[in-house]
Amino acid sequence: MWGAGRTPVCRQEVGWEVMDLTERLVRERRARLAAERLLEQKSRELFAANEKLAIHARSLSDQIVEQRQAVKSAMTEAETLKHQNHRFLEDLDRAHTAAVMAERRLWDSINAIRDGFAVFDSSLRMVTANRAWLAPFEGQPVAPGIAYADLLGLIAASGRIDLGEETGEDFVARMLARIEGDPIEPVTLKFRNGSWVKLQDHRARDGDMVCLALDITDQMRIWAAIEAIPDGFVLYDREERLLTCNQRYRDTYPASAPAMQPGTKFEDILRHGLANSQHADAVGREDEWIAERMDRYRSGGGTFEQQLSDGRWIRAHDHITPDGGRVGLRVDVTREKEHEAQLNAARNAAEAASRAKSAFLANMSHEIRTPMNGVVGMAELLCDTALNEEQRLFAETIRSSGEALLVIINDILDYSKIEAERLTLRPEPFDLERTIHEVTMLLQPRARGKGIDLMIDFDMFLPTRFVGDPGRLRQVLTNLIGNAVKFTEAGHVLTRVVGVDAADGRQTLHVTVEDTGIGIAPEHLDHIFGEFNQVEDERNRKFEGTGLGLAITRRLIEHMGGAVWVDSVPGQGSSFGFRVTLPVAEDAAPVQAPVTVRRVLAVDDQFINRTILERQLSPCGIEVTLCRSGAEALEHLAVDPPYDVLLTDHAMPEMDGVSLLATARAAGHGLPAILLSSNTGALDEAADSFAAVLQKPVLRSDLYRHLQALNAPPASCEPALPAVPADQRQMRVLAAEDNRTNQLVFQKMVRSMDLELVFAENGRIAVELFQSYCPDIIFMDISMPEMDGKEAARAIRLLESPDRHVPIIALTAHAMEGDSDQIMTAGIDQYLTKPLRKTAIEAVLIEYCPPDVRPPVVAAEDAA
Ligand code: ADP
Repeated sequence: MWGAGRTPVCRQEVGWEVMDLTERLVRERRARLAAERLLEQKSRELFAANEKLAIHARSLSDQIVEQRQAVKSAMTEAETLKHQNHRFLEDLDRAHTAAVMAERRLWDSINAIRDGFAVFDSSLRMVTANRAWLAPFEGQPVAPGIAYADLLGLIAASGRIDLGEETGEDFVARMLARIEGDPIEPVTLKFRNGSWVKLQDHRARDGDMVCLALDITDQMRIWAAIEAIPDGFVLYDREERLLTCNQRYRDTYPASAPAMQPGTKFEDILRHGLANSQHADAVGREDEWIAERMDRYRSGGGTFEQQLSDGRWIRAHDHITPDGGRVGLRVDVTREKEHEAQLNAARNAAEAASRAKSAFLANMSHEIRTPMNGVVGMAELLCDTALNEEQRLFAETIRSSGEALLVIINDILDYSKIEAERLTLRPEPFDLERTIHEVTMLLQPRARGKGIDLMIDFDMFLPTRFVGDPGRLRQVLTNLIGNAVKFTEAGHVLTRVVGVDAADGRQTLHVTVEDTGIGIAPEHLDHIFGEFNQVEDERNRKFEGTGLGLAITRRLIEHMGGAVWVDSVPGQGSSFGFRVTLPVAEDAAPVQAPVTVRRVLAVDDQFINRTILERQLSPCGIEVTLCRSGAEALEHLAVDPPYDVLLTDHAMPEMDGVSLLATARAAGHGLPAILLSSNTGALDEAADSFAAVLQKPVLRSDLYRHLQALNAPPASCEPALPAVPADQRQMRVLAAEDNRTNQLVFQKMVRSMDLELVFAENGRIAVELFQSYCPDIIFMDISMPEMDGKEAARAIRLLESPDRHVPIIALTAHAMEGDSDQIMTAGIDQYLTKPLRKTAIEAVLIEYCPPDVRPPVVAAEDAA
């Protein structure tokens, strides 16, 4: 811009001038530009220098700040350290106090324990000891620093230790030698005051000796007790290692003893014993034995017996301990075993003797019975002949003494049978009421002789047929009713039967026999059921008996599953009872009740008899009027005559039954009458006016039958007997009997009968006669020479054709139970026991008489 404003001068001149100016201008410009650049450069350098300065200044100031802060934090730190230092000092102080207290407590505790504790330094001078450790030194100058050897000397001299045989010096020497050991062996000291201490000492690493003195008094007491027991004691741990055992245990197994070191395994001890022939029962089966023994040990042991090779018997009792170990006792039972063997031998001998005794009794009974058969049978026959008064008395006495003797023999035999447990019951259907009646009837003569009334009160609603052993029940009833008659002088004997339904068609029967006899004092009640027990007092002495009857009764009833009992009031009477549960027989039919009779006038002076009559008749719908005397009956008849029948007792005070009927007849009463008498033999002809005379006590069915017969036409109640054709042959009877007397007795007993009798001397002849004579029945004695009865019966059965069966009746003595079984298996139909009774022979002959043969006896019923 600057060029554009300037004015141009002459061209040439002007040209030179212009050129010079431009040059100068260029130069000047250049110079200015250079100056400007220099300036610019200098200003930049200045700026940079300023910048540096500023940075430096800032860094200086930062350093100052930092240093200030460092100083401040150093001051704070110093403060903190000061505090810490203070706290540390406090903590240290507290820790020190606690340490002091802990040390005190520790010492208090160490002093309080029962066991002693002490520390000795490496030169064996005492550093410290608790009270228990120092106790044995009480009263002696003992303080820290004292030497171990001095302590031993002090205690040895004090006399507090029981040194036994050892001297004080020896003791000290032994104890000093002990602590030289490594480890130091424990030692037990016994003090005179009864306490025991076990010393257990250890060397510490720095050479100190730490000593413990353990009070083991209790342990030693228990151990002394274990040592004192007479049996072996052993304890194993749960790893089957021996913990301890007493000397007795070692003595029990001397061969195993060397192995019985604490820590030894049970199996190793066993094996040691085996190797040294300790166990007799292991010989030849060692491995098996070990296995068995280990099994038993592991299963807990229990009780078992073992025999050692020296013959001793050991009973071992092993049990598991609460910690899984085993504790065992070993008792030497050799003596016991010997004793047991002796007892066994004695028992076997006794049993053999008992069997021999039973067999002897059976034989004896047979031997006694055979002649008794002659005595009693002949006496019976003799009584039936014409004798004068004195001869009759003699004959009767022979018979009754013989019978009494037989009762005693039976009792003793029965009892020995029960003792030998050879009594078996033979249940069969039977009529209980009839059995009681028969027993009562057998005792009737004796009762009549004493003027005692025998009564039976059989529960009206009870069946009469049961399944039981009639023979044994008869025996029980005979004993009870027989005793009642024996021990009663006046009054009555009443047999009462009631029943209660039991399950399965059975009845629980309660049979009581009440009497009005001498009674039994309470102190004797307990033992009269014992063997050979009789009430020993003056009143009793006059009664004979073996004292076995009630013992047999009790055993029999218990054998039947029942029970017996007795109630008694001395001077008033006794009541014996028994209970048995029996099945009712399937053929049991209700007793037939009289239907045609409606009104009965019953007369009896005895209240019980009246009650029984009423109980027997009322349930049949009969109206019964009871009178206690003839006079009372006559009064009733006078005011109310339409009775169907008069039922009167025979013997009554003032007016007896016979007079009563005579008086009634005289008064015009034509009603039928039945007389009930306990002595039908003593009746005069006047009794003929009665429609029937019944023996007391009356069997219910008999009474009904007779009442029924009163109004019924005779043909309907008693079937007419078929006429006996005169051309029928006699019954052929063969009796095999070797004994002459018995042959005679048999012959006499059947002499009034219509039969043909042949005797065989022995079994062989009987078999021959069976073939040649063809008997209808054979009576066979069992013991005969050559061939006995059983053999003969077997031979006969073999010879028989299938369509022929001859009845064989064995004649036996009251044999043992087994014998009667054998008899029956020999093919014998029935057996009769000796002494023979005429009635029994008659009954058998009637039963087995073949239809085409003339009956040898007219049956009693038919004869009436
Ligand atoms: P025995 O009659 O043979 O002496 P028992 O064993 O039958 O033997 O009886 C034992 C005893 O019990 C009898 O001796 C008697 O003292 C007593 N005794 C038994 N029954 C009666 C009874 N009905 N009344 C009184 N005493 C009895």
